[in-house]
Amino acid sequence: MIAEKDRSAKSRAIVWFRKDLRLRDNPALEVAYKAGKEIVPVFIWNEEEGGQWSPGAASRWWLHQSLKDLGQSIASQSGKLILRKGSAEDILPQLAKSVGADIVLFNRVYDPAGQKTQVSVETALRRTGVTSESFNASLLNEPWEIKNGSGKPYQVFTPYWRTSRSGIYREPLSYEPSKLTFNDTDSKTETLNDLGLLPNHPWHKKLYSHWTVSEDEGHRMISRTTEEVTRFYSNRRNTPSVDGTSRLSPFLAWGNISPRQVCHAVLHADDRSGSMGENKFLTEIGWREFSYHLLYHFPRSPENPLRPKYAAFPWRKDAKALSHWQFGKTGYPLVDAGMKQLYETGWMHNRVRMVVASFLVKHLLLSWSEGARWFWDTLVDADLASNTQGWQWAAGCGADAAPYFRIFNPILQGEKFDGSGKYVRKWIEPLRDFPSKWIFKPWEAPTSILSEQNIVLGQNYPHPCVNHSEARSRALDALSTLPKN
Ligand SMILES: Cc1cc2nc3c(=O)[nH]c(=O)nc-3n(C[C@H](O)[C@H](O)[C@H](O)COP(=O)(O)OP(=O)(O)OC[C@H]3O[C@@H](n4cnc5c(N)ncnc54)[C@H](O)[C@@H]3O)c2cc1C
Repeated sequence: MIAEKDRSAKSRAIVWFRKDLRLRDNPALEVAYKAGKEIVPVFIWNEEEGGQWSPGAASRWWLHQSLKDLGQSIASQSGKLILRKGSAEDILPQLAKSVGADIVLFNRVYDPAGQKTQVSVETALRRTGVTSESFNASLLNEPWEIKNGSGKPYQVFTPYWRTSRSGIYREPLSYEPSKLTFNDTDSKTETLNDLGLLPNHPWHKKLYSHWTVSEDEGHRMISRTTEEVTRFYSNRRNTPSVDGTSRLSPFLAWGNISPRQVCHAVLHADDRSGSMGENKFLTEIGWREFSYHLLYHFPRSPENPLRPKYAAFPWRKDAKALSHWQFGKTGYPLVDAGMKQLYETGWMHNRVRMVVASFLVKHLLLSWSEGARWFWDTLVDADLASNTQGWQWAAGCGADAAPYFRIFNPILQGEKFDGSGKYVRKWIEPLRDFPSKWIFKPWEAPTSILSEQNIVLGQNYPHPCVNHSEARSRALDALSTLPKN
């Protein structure tokens, strides 16, 4: 810990930003503030760090916007966010020396590559006589704090959450960000554009019309959540045509806001309304925590199934089928609508994520890792813990996963969760006025309806790429090749 005597000294601390791109409820900033330090804020972009899990295109877009916002907030307090490119292990000791900082403060990340970097940074700093200290800014509980009765990590959500749920009462930090003292050092910095985060492909331009990325917007979205979402959450969360979920996920992914702030706001609103909807909502925050718990304890899970026997699953390789899925051309309207929502907005409704994921691994018999990679590149909320857990759940090979033999029928899922087809109509232009009765299975519509609607299957809307019953049998056959236990 920083010594009390340092409080009066005019010494400097580097705050190394990672996935905590905010000024409020940021433990590294709070510690610097309480120690009376002048803060030298830095963000280091290392494209190499994550290896195959280096942030994808949509995530980089979000990062670019977040750094812009953070830089502006710091500038409004007479400071300068230093941006650097390269290895944190090399940069931080040099920077500490050049700005005269005696300590580097940062908030921890939990992905395997990020953790490795943290250890290297701590060692490199120690070698040069600079202290470092790290904190938890992005979870309610540290992944290692929660253990089952035998001292092992949980692999089932319900007992995990029973043990860890009290974390929702952890209060956000209460310091006043405007009191932070930032240093306006003339230290070398890259420009934001130099980091090269914006994709070359113009695809990302669409994202501007769907998202405003800033810490303040994160808080506006939290207020929207407590005022409009949580009360009806239990009823609306599964209806993709309704704006019934919080859409906080990308703000949480890069730390524009913290889960403590979300829980605090929801619990506070709960006090006023006495409603129960919030509890279901907080359970979803619990799934995020559970995902981090799993990733921490099973760091190879982004590449390897948690249930080892699934490593031998006879996945197919089929580039054409994968491309049909990626670009919403499977011929199954609910699946295609989801994939179009993803490509258009960088986000997809959770119910539809489950349906499209199931379709890939069961109907198309393509590996969950192919799907995880596409999501990784296209989701603005791409998060290694939640994405891995979501995909392994869908493929039946994860902790507390949906059994592989339970195969979502994309037609029935549409009828159940998108009743009249409003969601499908929104995302699939040729089906905009298609009658509800056939909207999830246009190939069964009478010829007269197809011609009335100007639909020529195979031309302006695809034939189904697989037959549901045949695909179902093929998936079950594939499953039967695995050992029973
Ligand atoms: C195949 C698949 C892949 C996924 N990949 C990601 C991902 O990369 N990043 C990501 O944040 N979520 C992922 N999810 C989980 C979930 O779909 C999203 O968190 C959710 O849709 C985000 O929308 P929201 O903020 O409106 O959620 P809300 O319903 O409002 O939930 C509030 C918060 O709880 C958390 N949450 C909700 N559901 C889950 C869940 N099932 N698992 C973990 N956390 C959850 C999120 O942080 C979310 O912002 C994935 C789910 C599946 C099935």
